[in-house]
Formats: sequence, structure tokens, C-alpha cells
Amino acid sequence: MEVPVLELAQALLKCPSVTPADEGALTYLADVLAGLGFEIWHLPFGPEGAQTPNLFARRGRTGPHLCFAGHTDVVPPGEGWRHPPFAAMIEENVLYGRGASDMKGAIAAFTSAVSTILQTRELHGSISFLITGDEEGTAQHGTRDVLGWMKAEGHIPDFCLVGEPSNPEKMGEIIKIGRRGSLNATVTIRGVQGHVAYPLRADNPIHRLIALVNGLRSRTLDDGNAWFQPSSLQITNIDVGNEATNIIPGQASLRLNIRFNNHHLGADLAQWIKETTREYAPDATVDVAISGEAFLTEPNHYVESLARSIEAVTGQRPQMDTSGGTSDARFIAPYCPTAEFGLVGATMHKVDEAVHLGDLDALRDIYRTFIMDLGL
Ligand SMILES: [Zn+2]
Repeated sequence: MEVPVLELAQALLKCPSVTPADEGALTYLADVLAGLGFEIWHLPFGPEGAQTPNLFARRGRTGPHLCFAGHTDVVPPGEGWRHPPFAAMIEENVLYGRGASDMKGAIAAFTSAVSTILQTRELHGSISFLITGDEEGTAQHGTRDVLGWMKAEGHIPDFCLVGEPSNPEKMGEIIKIGRRGSLNATVTIRGVQGHVAYPLRADNPIHRLIALVNGLRSRTLDDGNAWFQPSSLQITNIDVGNEATNIIPGQASLRLNIRFNNHHLGADLAQWIKETTREYAPDATVDVAISGEAFLTEPNHYVESLARSIEAVTGQRPQMDTSGGTSDARFIAPYCPTAEFGLVGATMHKVDEAVHLGDLDALRDIYRTFIMDLGL
């Protein structure tokens, strides 16, 4: 049974699966995969009553094992769409809908690719799907928890392809082979509030905050490397809550973000921020949250095969890239090599999110070429 890419994409787009709602998206996909002979596991994780729906499906029990990872949840549509966000309308060869590019279209493309291969023969190995219903939200009980289960059950693949929209403008531009890590910190410095005319009776926390900012900014974190831009510390907010002109405020706080490459671990940077803060503002409090570590999959034979497949279909040799924000690939990288390749991301998270029908077909053909090039 061939699963047409457009039909499946439209069926998924019609489920208004805004995180954390599922609205039948995962069940629909599970039914399609079951029809293709996949073994299905529904894996809800998280607290009772607020569980994240997840799906793992696998066909074949032997290696090599290729896993396709993605998510069926979408960000809220927002206002001002020319096409209803959950109607999957087509106009002039463009399919509109929230999730068209990020990333129900890619899920449909991979499923369709597998179906066309299974029409003529059995797989020489295993293919699996790791699909979560919470990538756009907190991602607490999605991909990360499923991977823990996969590890325990012996389902860790040899390679994982994440179908996030990796191409900025047109198909074939970029394979993401890594991502920078991200860390947020809030530093709160307490002083003593007082009249600005009597500074000796007050203690101005802003002066220590400025010294601290300079201390933090004076360090060159690194110079980058062949695959990564230099790490960057950016101050994102400074807040002293002072409306008056004649008051020394009693408190000052700052927030910062570091996008860091694989020269660093989040914990080391957190430690450095705390030590530096102690130096300039000994009584300050520091809160650090690490949202993801940097990771890199050095181009291996899977990545090379993917690049070959992209070039065969699009005529363009893709670049290997590590820029952009985080994705669920950060949870996968500790378990197995992983890379991201999907649709064009130009409209992702925007109103009138859309995908060209030609791009859907191209992605299906790339995925099918990749699977066959791997000897699966
Ligand atoms: Zn996404």
C-alpha cells in the first residue's frame, strides 16, 4: 500500500495539535504505520492527567537500524491567516497549515518514502519512528523519555534522522549536524536603598552589576572551530525597578544567555558565572538553567549518504551546519549519531505556514533515496 505524501500531510494538518493537545494526530499516524506492518508502541509519559503522548513504531528487528524522529505538535496559529490554519488548503501548488513545514510535512514524506519501498520488497534491516506530541512546549516528557524507554528495550538506532525544517530558502541547502548549547542565567544583586544625596548611607547594587557585566563580557569564550561559530554571551535584560531620580535602588538583576559550542559544557559555564559573580558581587544570588548541551555528529557514512541523496534529487550539494536554535536532536545525540534534514523553514511558526507541493515530493524522494543508499 502506497501512502501518498500529500494525503497524509493533509490528514495530519487537519488535527489541531497545538502543544500539548494531540487531537488525534499521533493515533492517525500510528494507524497508517500499523497498516505498513510497523509494530506500534503508544508511550505516554509524565504526571497522571497531564501526560505527553508519544509514539514509537518499528519495522524489522535486525540492524542496521535507521530511526526517523519528529513531532506532531505545533505552535499556536496566532491571528491573521489568509488560509484557515487547520484546513490543509491548497492554492497554486502550495499547501497551507500550521505544521506544514514544522514538521508534519516531513513526517508524511518519510512515511510515504518507506511505503513506496515496501511496495516492492522487504527492508534489509530496521526502520523506526520516534514521534512526540511535545517538542514545541517544555519537551519534558517527549523525546527524552522515549529515548530512555528505547534504551531499556534495546531500540537505540545506528543513526537518527530528525525531520526538522533545516533549509532556509530552498530544498537541499543545509543538513544540520549539530547544534549549539544554550544556557540562561539570572543574577540578583542586593544593596541598600537610600537617598541619592547620601550615598554613604546606601549601597548601590548597580555599580557592582556593571562591574560584573564587564567581567563576564571581557572573556573570549573561544574562537569557534571548523563546525561551530564562536560561543557568545549576551546580556538579555537589566532590571533595577527604579522609577525615581533621587533613589539608589536596593536591588539590581541581570539576565544573560550563552549560546555555546562543543568547547564547553553547560555545567562548566554555570560554574564560571557563579565564580565571576562571587568576585564582583559576593552576596548575589545566581540561578542558571541549561536548556541543552552543544553536540556534533562528525560527518560519518550516514551523513555522507544523506548528502549524496539530497544532491541526487535536488542537484545541490548541501552544506553541513550547526547554527540556529535547539531542537530535540539535543536529546538524541547522547545516544547515537544524529542529523537533521527536512523541509524549507521560511514560514515555520509564522502565519500562513506553508510548503510547496514540489518540496514535499522532493523530500519524499530524498528520504527514499537515503534509505535505499544505506542498503536498507
Ligand atoms: Zn519542529
